[in-house]
Amino acid sequence: MGVMIERGSTKVLFDPLFKTHFDIYDPVPTNMAAALIAGAQPWDGIDAVFISHYHGDHVDPEMVLALLRAQTTIRLFAPEQAASAIRKLVSDARVLERVHGLVLANGEAAVDIELDSLLIEATRVPHAGWPNRHSHVENLVFRVTLDSTTTVMHLGDADTGHEHYDTASGYWQERRTHLAMPPYWFFLSEEGREVLNGRIQPDHAIGMHVPSEVPDQAADRPEEIREFDLFTKPGESRKILVKD
Ligand SMILES: [Zn+2]
Repeated sequence: MGVMIERGSTKVLFDPLFKTHFDIYDPVPTNMAAALIAGAQPWDGIDAVFISHYHGDHVDPEMVLALLRAQTTIRLFAPEQAASAIRKLVSDARVLERVHGLVLANGEAAVDIELDSLLIEATRVPHAGWPNRHSHVENLVFRVTLDSTTTVMHLGDADTGHEHYDTASGYWQERRTHLAMPPYWFFLSEEGREVLNGRIQPDHAIGMHVPSEVPDQAADRPEEIREFDLFTKPGESRKILVKD
């Protein structure tokens, strides 16, 4: 679920530093986490970091704090639950002023934040398992436009229930999404595919949050996920062409 998006010299990270993997997912490799915190290429010049929600397989507050301390221009945007977990660890104003906690209710209209080369929009969509599991978790779907040109959407651990996407239905089509990154379970359910194809309608979608056991080669995968684009290996990349 950790992804970097690069467009020209504008770079953002989603859920980049976490430790928990439940023996199901790939953790962030130790050397990659160290390089990222140090700002070594290709992790240099990051403009903003987005955290989808406060779960250990998406954010480790201490690692994110290390990144904010080492890279003094990065701004962090996170649901207040995650932001406050990071704030608790630090008293340095130079770090605190870059930690932006967003408070949104489920179904509430999105916030818009303009920041240099970024247009940041966020809306809250319940965590997968709704309403029985994790219903208190503030899961944010970030839609970020880089250089007024390229729009990407990271869904965190969003639930596939279509009702979550009906409340602010105009929002999803207000701006064209060139790349959506849903958790891979969107591809596994008809409802998830309908939300993706009917509501969000991205030009391209790449599934994330894929268990380690899913083979890297599409041909080796179970049939129901063979036709979809998935991130399966830490450090892999895609080049996405933005069409007019
Ligand atoms: Zn989660």
